[in-house]
Amino acid sequence: MSRGINTKCLHLEESEGKVEHYGSISYPIYQTATYAHPGVGQSTGYDYNRVSNPTRDQLQKTLASLEGGIDALAFSSGMAAITLLMEIFEPGDHIIADNDLYGGSIRLFKNVCPKHGLKFTLIDCHKEKIEDYITPDTKAVYIETPTNPMMNVTDIKATAKVAHDHNLILIVDNTFMSPYFQNPLTLGADVVVHSGTKYLGGHNDTLAGFLVTNREDISEKLKYMYLTTGSCLSPFDSWLILRGIKTLGVRMERAEQNAKKLAEWFGSRSSVKKVVYPGLPNHPGYEVQKSQARGFGAMLTIELKSKEYALAILSKVRIIKYAESLGGVETLITYPTTQTHADVPEEIRVANGITDSVLRLSVGIEDVDDLIDELTRVFDEIESGK
Ligand SMILES: *Cc1c(COP(=O)(O)O)cnc(C)c1O
Repeated sequence: MSRGINTKCLHLEESEGKVEHYGSISYPIYQTATYAHPGVGQSTGYDYNRVSNPTRDQLQKTLASLEGGIDALAFSSGMAAITLLMEIFEPGDHIIADNDLYGGSIRLFKNVCPKHGLKFTLIDCHKEKIEDYITPDTKAVYIETPTNPMMNVTDIKATAKVAHDHNLILIVDNTFMSPYFQNPLTLGADVVVHSGTKYLGGHNDTLAGFLVTNREDISEKLKYMYLTTGSCLSPFDSWLILRGIKTLGVRMERAEQNAKKLAEWFGSRSSVKKVVYPGLPNHPGYEVQKSQARGFGAMLTIELKSKEYALAILSKVRIIKYAESLGGVETLITYPTTQTHADVPEEIRVANGITDSVLRLSVGIEDVDDLIDELTRVFDEIESGK
């Protein structure tokens, strides 16, 4: 019988019942660059750290188990993972990608990958028909759901069907949901991307990235590129992410609870023009989200009545930190216009609703009353002109 996800975050099935590493409950950090051979032509299974490391292997197996993949690879950052993933394509290949992706991914697709002959068409994947953009060179569809920061929800199963009908692979960046809430591979995706810096690590203290796949052919290509290019995660950072994953479930549950309460609170303030949170029944993606994920996550976006109001909030928060990134235990607030989405062309940004009065929150696990008290003070101060 397959284990529940919280158990999977703590135990690898293959090591259950075994006493290994002197019984150490925390997996050891193998801080080594290379490995001695027991004899000529013999190996312990490990030869050199760029290729493999026991601590990193433990983490990779954990990710594969959480996402239902056959394999996972751990990278030094999410962007390193996405960059390597692009190596499975050939010059001339065409990829259809969502136009509301993480800003770094858009930057990579627009400014770096074309140098290697890759072509991209950025579309609104949750609304537009992917079929209309498929050319004889199209090889893949690349999505995030919900998207960053506008929380557009794309139907993964339906997208996988279109992709497979045309012999394309479907890649899903699952960072926002984490494997705790959503498993794209089980819905038909071929490759899952994670920025492990976010919910998997969970503590705003480590960068990491992952690729997980359930396709043997893709896995072989990725592994070859991985050991050749060397953007692997260090043993210590692998251990930090393994430790973060142990509490993934409780963190996700608590952060989501807090996000729901904050979404309601923002909805009650007249200076908030719009609250974008997929867990609100009036969100256009609510039903699809409910059908394909086990939760709504803890990311929410608000549109204030003016740019000045949005900037004033940033300068007045104290517990809530004005900082890039997301998915950690601390609540962070960002200004997509100049931070995460600074490199997204203005016309795309504004068409996606990312105006200069939009703020994005990554809700953490603080006592939600303290967050609401702080926001009440901040809003009251702004409204009374203090
Ligand atoms: C942060 C992020 C990335 C990039 O990951 P890094 O670890 O910062 O390199 C990619 N996709 C999404 C959705 C992200 O939030």
